[in-house]
Amino acid sequence: MTYNPELLKREKRHPEKQKNPDRPMGKKPDWLRVKAPQGKVFHETREVMKGLKLTTVCEEAGCPNIGECWDKKHATMMIMGEVCTRACAFCNIATGKPDELDKMEPLRVGVAVEKMGLNHVVITSVDRDDLTDGGAEHWEKTIGAIRFKAPDTTIEILTGDFKGDVDAIDHVIAAKPDVFNHNLETVPALYPTIRPGARYFRSLRLLERVKDVDPMIFTKSGLMVGLGETIEQVGQVMDDMRAAKIDFITIGQYLQPTPKHAPVVHFWTPEEFAKLERMAKAKGFLMVSATPLTRSSYHADADFAKLKAARAKKIAAE
Ligand code: SF4
Repeated sequence: MTYNPELLKREKRHPEKQKNPDRPMGKKPDWLRVKAPQGKVFHETREVMKGLKLTTVCEEAGCPNIGECWDKKHATMMIMGEVCTRACAFCNIATGKPDELDKMEPLRVGVAVEKMGLNHVVITSVDRDDLTDGGAEHWEKTIGAIRFKAPDTTIEILTGDFKGDVDAIDHVIAAKPDVFNHNLETVPALYPTIRPGARYFRSLRLLERVKDVDPMIFTKSGLMVGLGETIEQVGQVMDDMRAAKIDFITIGQYLQPTPKHAPVVHFWTPEEFAKLERMAKAKGFLMVSATPLTRSSYHADADFAKLKAARAKKIAAE
């Protein structure tokens, strides 16, 4: 038998997926090819993350944009460990029993933001269904530490669903992030196979709650396409998002991380993405980002400035 360390690593990361048959990963179309990471700032960003023992979703999820983003110091830190309690069929984050929370992590995140001199930072987390508050207090401490160390930096958080626990959600809202992002990820018909631990309307209600409690916080949500959804189903999700008063929609192409993950059913073309963008704009979102390489945190700093400008323009027109 051949010894394959890469495969062993994958087995360790995704034990629950090893029963799945291997599904060929196919060749990526040209429009999804990106340059390999290489710049000086890229390496500096990596040193800051390594030096402060911080985890990033950029690395854990194997994001294709890492070269471009880290060259601009845009790393999305992932708090509460490297191990997630959910096991979504699309996700490359390791699944299992997470470690205890690291009480010093919020401060280290604050130090990293200060050190990198960021105007805008995106923080995400693994799902922590093992914690009674889903990690809400840790979120609050992390936002507080960033405000303390880097008071001028705007903060975007990309959270899990806190299992719909309103007290936990309100706790995080009270910490006043500038942008509250929670991804719907896919259309409701695909939830049982793609996001089995989540509930579509629970996720929508979370975002609606943010707007109801604090309308000044921008809300944002993202979809991956390519998992077998139809354009009509995507249109319905857009309508549901608008009914929940979501400000900003992101749509990007799903990429299969390993042969054990859900397969790509369709690579949406740049023209099809342009159509999705037109549809979303027509439905009244303040901001739309729909390209094959769009990810929740891709260009998030520049997009935040545009988001603020779009809201100011809308208010002026009313
Ligand atoms: S798009 Fe987001 S996850 Fe991907 S490299 Fe950029 S910051 Fe990281």
